[in-house]
Amino acid sequence: MNGKDIGAYLRPRVLERFLRYVQVDTSADPDSGQHPSSPGQLELGTRLAAELRSLGLRDVEQDAYGYVYAVLPGRRSRSPMALTFCAHLDTSPSVSGTHVRPIVHQGYDGGAIGFEDDPNLYLTPGDSPELLKFKGDDIITAAGRTLLGADDKAGLAAIMTALEALVHWTEWPHPELRIVFTPDEEIGQGTDLIQRGRLGDIGYTIDGGEMGELETECFHALKAVLVFHGMNVHPGYAKNRMINAAAMAARFVAALPAAETPEHTEKREGFFHLTALDGNESRATAEMILRDFDADRNHRRTDLLRQLGTAFQTANPGLGIDINVSEQYRNMKEVLDRYPDVVGKGQEAIRAAGLAVITKAIRGGTDGAQLCFMGVPTPNLFAGGLLFHSRKEWIPVTALTKSAQVIMELCRLWAADSGRAGTTPGKD
Ligand SMILES: [Zn+2]
Repeated sequence: MNGKDIGAYLRPRVLERFLRYVQVDTSADPDSGQHPSSPGQLELGTRLAAELRSLGLRDVEQDAYGYVYAVLPGRRSRSPMALTFCAHLDTSPSVSGTHVRPIVHQGYDGGAIGFEDDPNLYLTPGDSPELLKFKGDDIITAAGRTLLGADDKAGLAAIMTALEALVHWTEWPHPELRIVFTPDEEIGQGTDLIQRGRLGDIGYTIDGGEMGELETECFHALKAVLVFHGMNVHPGYAKNRMINAAAMAARFVAALPAAETPEHTEKREGFFHLTALDGNESRATAEMILRDFDADRNHRRTDLLRQLGTAFQTANPGLGIDINVSEQYRNMKEVLDRYPDVVGKGQEAIRAAGLAVITKAIRGGTDGAQLCFMGVPTPNLFAGGLLFHSRKEWIPVTALTKSAQVIMELCRLWAADSGRAGTTPGKD
């Protein structure tokens, strides 16, 4: 079976699935308080579970929280390990995902792509220079009113299609596979209710962007809540008495490094990001998130907050400042550095699919980071889409196909590995 045959088999199947999945509205709802947060995720999960059953997978389950699990026993495999592939069911609530109408623009010519439902909207190489790499390819977008949902229905379609191919091609070796589809990744709850016991020894999320991408790093993430306690007095009689908590909070935030904010940072630079500021003379709160790829550097941001707090209280007798810092997630690199095979085989699989490896650090979090710290080392592989969370979201059909192919190559590589060299699963 050569790469061309694989591509020819996968391409129409992954495309058909993708076009079907994006039409189910699975927008996450951050305010619902339900698990999953929206009914569409249950609907899509039910359909996927039925599809998994019809492909012959075992122990297929959609649980009450909307997680979908399934097992494909290993075949022709020398590997003692079980491998998890993970994608998420929901789409971002930041742009509508209702009545997504996918359009396949055949034979992209390198120019601007128009949108039927919004004549003023165009997707151009200026928005996304990667478009030019896909001249002549078929490009999928939504119709203009909604996001497309390639994040992460491309991942779902790639996993499902790779499973179909594995079931169909009985000569293709693969280790035991433990599939999981998660709800509510976009609102940071993707792994909150996951059943650890149903996962494999190692994993890959299929939730990255550009074709060829492998992500092994994400932010180290802290949240800081600052409460300012002041002293309110009638403003006409306040001299030497009033301590205005809201004004103190504003001055405190203004004293933070001006260049270390999201709008002034990129690549490997970290930041303080004020997410809420609220208060009056008596009491004020400031909430911020602190981000960096380096945990020590991020903890130094906490030190700065505390030192500033002490300075403000010293300079303003009577002012009280409580600072509460909590960890949100950690950089998965801490874990993945101990599993060079997991990352190495990811790179090898991408190359085996005929692609160059693009290594990126995620300026955010990922389900895989949580899984890493639950004992399942899990880097993130591309699903192929770009301009996520926008009406201009797009994906080339070739990238979708290659995503499925990389999953198959990973299966082949792990099935041939009888040892545990470079990996120490379960000892985390
Ligand atoms: Zn995603």
